Amino acid sequence: MKRLRFFFFSVLASASLMTAQESGQWQQHVDYTMNVDMDVKTYQYTGTQKLVYTNNSPDELGRVFYHLYYNAFQPGSEMDIRLQNIKDPDNRMMEGGKSRISTLSESEMGYLHAETLTQDGQPVSFKEEGTILVVDLAKPIPSGGKTTLEMTFKGQVPLQIRRAGRNSSEGVALSMSQWYPKLSEYDFEGWHPNPYIAREFHGVWGDFDVKITLDKEYTVGGTGYLQNPQEIGHGYETPGSKVKTKGKTLTWHFKAPNVHDFMWAADPEYIHDILEMEDGPTLHFYYKNNPEIIENWKKLQPKTAEAMAFFSKNIGKYPYEQYSVVQGGDGGMEYAMSTLVTGGRELGSLVGVMVHEMAHSWFQHVLATNESEHEWMDEGFTTFISSLCMNEIMQQEKQNPFEGSYRGYYALVNSGLEKPQSTHADRYTTNFAYGISAYSKGSIFLSQLGYIIGQDKLMETIKKYYDDFKFKHPVPNDIKRTAEKVSGMELNWYLTDWTQTTNTIDYGIKSVEADGEKTKVSLERIGEMPMPLDILVVGEDGSQETFYIPLRMMFGEKDNPYPDLKRTVLDDWPWAYPSYEFTLDMPLENVKAIVIDPSQLMADVDGENNVYQAEE
Ligand SMILES: [Zn+2]
Repeated sequence: MKRLRFFFFSVLASASLMTAQESGQWQQHVDYTMNVDMDVKTYQYTGTQKLVYTNNSPDELGRVFYHLYYNAFQPGSEMDIRLQNIKDPDNRMMEGGKSRISTLSESEMGYLHAETLTQDGQPVSFKEEGTILVVDLAKPIPSGGKTTLEMTFKGQVPLQIRRAGRNSSEGVALSMSQWYPKLSEYDFEGWHPNPYIAREFHGVWGDFDVKITLDKEYTVGGTGYLQNPQEIGHGYETPGSKVKTKGKTLTWHFKAPNVHDFMWAADPEYIHDILEMEDGPTLHFYYKNNPEIIENWKKLQPKTAEAMAFFSKNIGKYPYEQYSVVQGGDGGMEYAMSTLVTGGRELGSLVGVMVHEMAHSWFQHVLATNESEHEWMDEGFTTFISSLCMNEIMQQEKQNPFEGSYRGYYALVNSGLEKPQSTHADRYTTNFAYGISAYSKGSIFLSQLGYIIGQDKLMETIKKYYDDFKFKHPVPNDIKRTAEKVSGMELNWYLTDWTQTTNTIDYGIKSVEADGEKTKVSLERIGEMPMPLDILVVGEDGSQETFYIPLRMMFGEKDNPYPDLKRTVLDDWPWAYPSYEFTLDMPLENVKAIVIDPSQLMADVDGENNVYQAEE
């Protein structure tokens, strides 16, 4: 018995040592050279891929994994079965109460298969396991070593069901995301060969050199810089010049440096507009020549430039020379240097989806947190910064631009379906709980951090976080450490309670009583999660002053968030104490109201007990 216990203890101890290891110390590197031939009639394609993989890890690698995402779009795949079993399946993937994947015919389904594979010229054995290709290497790659993997592959583009596919509901012919054999990421946590069930994107940075051959009527847009615009035309040529093409097909040559994904889309009816930004990248727009959408797609263009400028100013400089907004897909999804969005939207919605997806360029493509493990750091931070951006570029003038996120979070808490944010993105019981947890609760992580450390310190934290962790796949501890360095506060309690538990915040005003010529205020902590408190006191004469109760375990104080009002910093509240008292230097009859957190940025699940109002 004793022995067993010791065994468990040592396992736990080594597990915690693992997670204490810092992220971003080293990154694998992979360069892709691909040639692909697309048959636009059968939606089948063949390709060659040369992949030069550099093992910067301290470990010798005996096998590697690839993602073959299109295999998810086959009856009986994990994605299909999950769709049939989850309580609230994605509507886009259902028809007549049935999974759309379950009814795909041979010619409609998707697939991606490796046909041959060599390592430094030697054939290697490989095995397909659903959406993952497992490769036993001919010789292990030593730490610091390099190897060349050469593959021939064939694929079929599935009907548009989720993210990628052919013939979208808006008639876009080819939305080519997750289309090539993609090397799985190996990082300080090990391999990440996640099956494609709903959502898991994590990748290795490298340089892409991609040649795509297809029917010359199609216009292509997506991730890379076009290398042969004078052979292609389609709006890429030097203005005023003429491009003559021979034959029925064109070969488009793209290069994309330092990206971890490569998307392209193609349609014979795309309009292609280009907007050069003065201090920024070149913006490209591709949308169907459909009179109903053209006006909004023209109005979208200057807004895209404004959003690019907003993010570059508030997060950090966008590191590429190009960004493309492409009509395609099934909603909005971010890719390297580009996005696929549905285009038949009201202007506000079109701008909104562009802003959200573009913000991902920073959080998913340059910082690139692992979306399956820390989805809130990607979707949540993206939601936070896009709320700020929309407020500015669409002149929304909302007092609390994050209001929607708080509403969603409170609904989740009341539903009883909440899971900790550390849950794997595919392992939530409902899509509802995943969505709110990743987007809304993830956004509140930052807006509420602003409440704790102060808004200026928050914005400074975001910039420093981007600067310190770009191209490093940061993990939760990295944003916490950045906020600690900027604010001088200790914030481990915030990271652990908010992201690893479903503890809630509930502080209340228990009583307000006369104490001679003074007034005694009693507060209570009802929720498990600790927080510092800002308290506003309004006098009968209209006067206002604030009180600040720091949380003892944060060992710091924020600057006065209401510099126009007098602020009194009270003693720290040690968390374990369920109650706290302080005295106002005014008689009870002069107190008109007392409010805990007038900003409402603290996500208190019961707002009613946050307010005391004198009886009339
Ligand atoms: Zn998103």
